[in-house]
Amino acid sequence: MPPRPSGRRAISTVALFTLALIAACTPGDDRAAASAIPDLPPLKVVDVAYMDTTVNACVDFYSFANGGWQKRDTIPAAYSSTGVGRDMSDRNELVVRSVLEDAAAKRKSLPNNSTERKLGTFYASCMDTKAAEEAGLDPLRPTLAAIDSITSRDAFIPVVASLQTSGVDVLFRYSPSVNIHDTEHYIADVDRGGLGLPDRDYYLDQSASADSTRKAYLVHIARMFILAGEDSVSAASEAARVLSLETAMATAQLPRVARRDPKATDHPMTMVNLERLAPNVPWGPYFRSVGVSTPVARVNVGEPAYVKALDSLVAARPLDDWRAYLRYHALDAAAPWLDSAFVNEDFAFSSRFTGAKELLPRWKRCLRAADGEMGEALGEAYVARTFPPEAKAKAKEVIDNVRAAFRERLLALDWMSDSTRAQALDKLSKLGEKVGYPDVWRDYTKLHVTEGPFVLNVASAERFEWYRTSDRPGKKVDRSEWHMTVPTVNAYYDPSVNEMVFPAGALVPQTFDPKADDGANYGSLAGSWAGHELTHGFDDEGRHFDAEGNLRDWWTAADSKAFDAQAELVAKQYDGYIQVDTFHVNGHLTLGENIADYGGALTGYDALERALEKNGRPGLIDGFTPEQRYFIAFAQSFRDHTRDASLRTRVKVDPHSPGKWRVNGPLSNMEAFAKAFSCKEGDPMVRARSEVAKIW
Ligand SMILES: [Zn+2]
Repeated sequence: MPPRPSGRRAISTVALFTLALIAACTPGDDRAAASAIPDLPPLKVVDVAYMDTTVNACVDFYSFANGGWQKRDTIPAAYSSTGVGRDMSDRNELVVRSVLEDAAAKRKSLPNNSTERKLGTFYASCMDTKAAEEAGLDPLRPTLAAIDSITSRDAFIPVVASLQTSGVDVLFRYSPSVNIHDTEHYIADVDRGGLGLPDRDYYLDQSASADSTRKAYLVHIARMFILAGEDSVSAASEAARVLSLETAMATAQLPRVARRDPKATDHPMTMVNLERLAPNVPWGPYFRSVGVSTPVARVNVGEPAYVKALDSLVAARPLDDWRAYLRYHALDAAAPWLDSAFVNEDFAFSSRFTGAKELLPRWKRCLRAADGEMGEALGEAYVARTFPPEAKAKAKEVIDNVRAAFRERLLALDWMSDSTRAQALDKLSKLGEKVGYPDVWRDYTKLHVTEGPFVLNVASAERFEWYRTSDRPGKKVDRSEWHMTVPTVNAYYDPSVNEMVFPAGALVPQTFDPKADDGANYGSLAGSWAGHELTHGFDDEGRHFDAEGNLRDWWTAADSKAFDAQAELVAKQYDGYIQVDTFHVNGHLTLGENIADYGGALTGYDALERALEKNGRPGLIDGFTPEQRYFIAFAQSFRDHTRDASLRTRVKVDPHSPGKWRVNGPLSNMEAFAKAFSCKEGDPMVRARSEVAKIW
């Protein structure tokens, strides 16, 4: 999995010009769809209406740029946050919805095995709530019967394998990954997994709030069992089995921060050694049953201590514990698509971690399921409706200027030796980029979709995806593959193939507009996205990988030391920020993202100066210079309003800092920012030079 780039920050897409395009493309049905779309304000890359100029820019720039919007904004009940991400996604989803409704309406007249028919059928079966209510638990009964039939240890792992291939996360995770010691090929990867709460800390933390979460989890598990037909006494005792087992599993897992060191999860071993490490799992038959056709020679085990502990649990815990555990996870995976009793119970528990007050409308849940399971089928139609070639060309130009600016910075670094610099330049020159959409679209011929029940279509799509890749160990890496769908409002850098990827869904207003001024576009796309992703190749995690993506230490010892010392300054800076209540930002969990935000702000600024030199310097726009607009666009690209419940979850699991610190953190380190707004030494937005990290 590529490290999530700009993760929960926003994302995505389509403003009014998109709606105009829809109408232009296909006058008939689509015009009707467009007219049904509610009015939404157009998104601009810089919108002065969001600002609060009564705030001093040198005291709190985030509020200066976003304060007006923040005062007016309320988070709709179904959301855990609002801001750029939701605004762009909302618009994006209107486009995707028109694609799906179109396909659903005409599906029965489409060729049987066509992708569009499958897409339409998938969506239509999801929207059929009447069928879901009538079917109740019936679609899941064969799975539950298979779990109940486990009466011997020999019968256990085959059921685990079957659940995993259908998308149920139990025990551990198998996937074929790029081998980071030979990045031309895939290797079988076995990593931790199988917990029902969002992080191991929820099981181990002794605080009152963690204790109340565990109590709520027990109640939730028991309710799910009751909904599945158990009496309340047995449901409560089964729930206790599940929590006890998961707590034992969690105890053996590494803390999230420790996993940021790529060496912590790099343990390639022979099959013989895996069998010695975990003798109670029949690995050979397991791999065959999940679709690996040739005997596996080597396996990377992400966390050997976890796999060893899990193996002991497999041997020691009664089968009653394991059956309860598998039953709960099968119910949990299916719950969002079963009848409303399950849907509501699932939502009630998950909202504890998001703060959302009500369910998203059904069409949005179905749309997101379609994007998750058949994303590339959607992507093709999405691009045709919303992403003109000019937008792609202009976005590429911005990204290329960022690369050039970062190269200049590398050449000028005084703390880096020439030998490390030469390799860094080589890595930069080989850093790949994908912009917009894949060159080759995924083939869905083998995907099986029926008119219902929907929960089985989800399981079928999960199996399709599993078997599409499961037989990859030992085979050549497919470098054309994308790990995000096209309408996604996000981007990523993948260190194992050394490339950054920008889906079309992220290259529309508010993030980017080919018609906007350079100040705005470079602040938003170049500063907070392109420069950000680019520098991930060189952050505390990415720097351990070489130009080919191999895990190799190409830094001199002195350069490593210099980098780490500066990175520690960044960690310390963010440790000082409050995330929510009395919880501070975790400076080490968020280190890579914070370094990337800072590097992005610096590099994007240089790229803007290059662009202004080439394209000419415009006069004031909305009363601001290009440099001022750069920083305002940067700050507005992190415009965000998040519920406290979600901030509390994110402080444990999210490698990104809250929006306010993603803005005020990097900008208060930058002399160019102080200059643009005439801030003085001692102002909160001007940190003491001695405390400011100098990395890029
Ligand atoms: Zn990132």
